[in-house]
Amino acid sequence: MYSVADNGLVASGKLEENSKTNSNSRGPIPDLRDFSKQELQNFLDSFDTILSDCDGVLWSCHTPIKGSLAALKELQEMGKNVYFVSNNSTLSIDNFVKKLERLGFPAKKHQVVVPSLVVAWYLTSIDFKGEAFVVGTTAFKNVLRDAGVKISTCDPELVDEDLGAVVEALKDYPGVKAIIHDFDPNASWMKIMRSVISLRRDDCIFIAAAMDALVPVGAKYPLLGTKLFTDVVSQTVGRQPILTAKPSQLLKEYVFKNCDLNGAERTVFVGDTITQDAKFASLCGFKKMFVTSGVATLEDALKEEEARPDIWIPSLGDFLPLFEGLNSGQNSSDQSL
Ligand SMILES: [Mg+2]
Repeated sequence: MYSVADNGLVASGKLEENSKTNSNSRGPIPDLRDFSKQELQNFLDSFDTILSDCDGVLWSCHTPIKGSLAALKELQEMGKNVYFVSNNSTLSIDNFVKKLERLGFPAKKHQVVVPSLVVAWYLTSIDFKGEAFVVGTTAFKNVLRDAGVKISTCDPELVDEDLGAVVEALKDYPGVKAIIHDFDPNASWMKIMRSVISLRRDDCIFIAAAMDALVPVGAKYPLLGTKLFTDVVSQTVGRQPILTAKPSQLLKEYVFKNCDLNGAERTVFVGDTITQDAKFASLCGFKKMFVTSGVATLEDALKEEEARPDIWIPSLGDFLPLFEGLNSGQNSSDQSL
């Protein structure tokens, strides 16, 4: 299923297969490698900002996808604004920046966009004053703490295996005014029940960050994602969460307010998924650049009606060599893709 080999190199067999199958009744998705020099120049001149997904585009878990960050670094040096828009909040923002720097990209904190930041921004925007109960990682909670959100710490770690003891341990805490779900490898039955109990109150809001059913982590196997737990709570209490990750409306608002965009039409979004990346780019009106170095295949992209990618390239690592010899200055041509 996954095209990223353990050594970090994209498997060439899949790329050849993709080239052969890049067409359906609507024709092929334009392959950047087939562009003439003038078409490539026009594309380069057509955007000021590039937002990139991370897992499956820049790296596969801890393995970098060859050349991808170098391409973004070159674009940044050309004067393009570069942002990293990931649904993965399990790294602190500091560690996210350190990871980018370790892999060769000189990043700043403001270039990182993850759902924990969107949740913190949203809670600040509504002047949230209560406590938040978070099913999520320490890194996620710390982003909220940094924004001044009080995190509820009243959940018991373990309970006796007796129904009476369980009922006794499950209390409602009226100070909890927000339930927030993200990926949590230590999610438990008790945490899910705590969510249900609080959400039976109308004064408690329900927020979901990452909503993946499965989380791909390289070529080995996918992990069960947050969606499964969040759906259980949602169905039990009859409430839908406020969404904050790709492809949500709140993330769109966050990006337009906090990133340096020169209009949606001069912004490119590069991603390896259709359901998250291409749909988010479509929601925002960005150009949709698709890579097959991660989860989705070219066949998946061809099946998509509304958020069909505008252009395709096997990986971002194949992007940079195409621009050798072109004018790297912005707006060197009035033409656009
Ligand atoms: Mg991805």
